Amino acid sequence: VVTSEYAVRAGIAFTGRPLRVERDRCYWVRNGQVESVESTASCPLTHLGSENTILTPTVGLGHTHSMDHAFPEYGVDRPLEELVAPPRGLKHRLLEGLSWKEAVEATLQYYRLAWRNGASLILDFRERGGFGCLTAKKALSTAPEGLKAIILGRPGEDWPLGCDGLGLNSPLDYNIGTVRELASQYRPSAAHVAETVDARRSGDLEAALEAGLDFIVHGTFLSCDDIGLLEEKGVGLVLCPSSNMWHSTGLPPVGCALSRLSRVSLGTDNAAWHGPDAWREASLALHVARLQGYRAPSIARRIAEALFYGAYEIVGLEPPVPVEGGPATFLLWSGHDSRISESMEPFGGLVKRSGLLRLIARIDGGRISWV
Ligand SMILES: [Zn+2]
Repeated sequence: VVTSEYAVRAGIAFTGRPLRVERDRCYWVRNGQVESVESTASCPLTHLGSENTILTPTVGLGHTHSMDHAFPEYGVDRPLEELVAPPRGLKHRLLEGLSWKEAVEATLQYYRLAWRNGASLILDFRERGGFGCLTAKKALSTAPEGLKAIILGRPGEDWPLGCDGLGLNSPLDYNIGTVRELASQYRPSAAHVAETVDARRSGDLEAALEAGLDFIVHGTFLSCDDIGLLEEKGVGLVLCPSSNMWHSTGLPPVGCALSRLSRVSLGTDNAAWHGPDAWREASLALHVARLQGYRAPSIARRIAEALFYGAYEIVGLEPPVPVEGGPATFLLWSGHDSRISESMEPFGGLVKRSGLLRLIARIDGGRISWV
């Protein structure tokens, strides 16, 4: 539905940056913008939402490889190296076998799922050079409106056709001069770093910093001092706890990253093993942080910010924040029974109980989509 002017009522709204909670609000939307946010008493008789509606920003998914949605749950008994290491890992042989149509279809399905999970931005790593980027662009052209993807490709046949930026398997895949040149020419630029102990020992963090990458993915074996270095250099980090647990590599330094690094995002990594559900990743991240001794309520708020805004921030984009004067881009959830509204600590409540919510509508720049 496209309508230029309407009002939305929310019993509780997660909004702002830093993220805060507001209660009993009426959002007045006009021409794709939040014109004003007022008390519910100001809401007209006809409006969207109700006192039981939960309003949140949209989600930014910081890392995925959407093309492997073509072969879900393959090779579950094999170790990480055998599965994903280019060029001979099983995954790469399977990707090479995909036709143009198969690659576009799997990617489109994945993008639709991400949209239904509330995503407005995906930072997508694509293999197979220009083929990977062009098929992603084709899928995106028919994906639901309101979803953007930044297509991060890597050198290969037809590279860099269709690619928005660089997404390397490792900053050690080429000599440092080449990586530096690629990173400055194709931005945003990123690579997996410190996913395994061996990768960290081989100096992939140092190479990433020297090459000037915009953000890195995993950081599973980074120390808190390493993370301090990322902050100093303005490099973002995407945490992928589900992927790290699935491949049995270890737990990423969630607590330290959220305490010391300003630009942190959450990723679901390979679509072969995890769907585009960043909410689940956020809940898992909160559990990992607690396991690592970080119990302050501020950690849950930081995780929610990483979920909503982090993917935008690590590539230098302004996230859509549903505040007065901001874009009318947000999600409406039904979830009164979840007791998120009554939670003593609402950010933790939202992050942990999101699985109990049902997305009712997406507002994308004013356009209303019933989900
Ligand atoms: Zn990855």
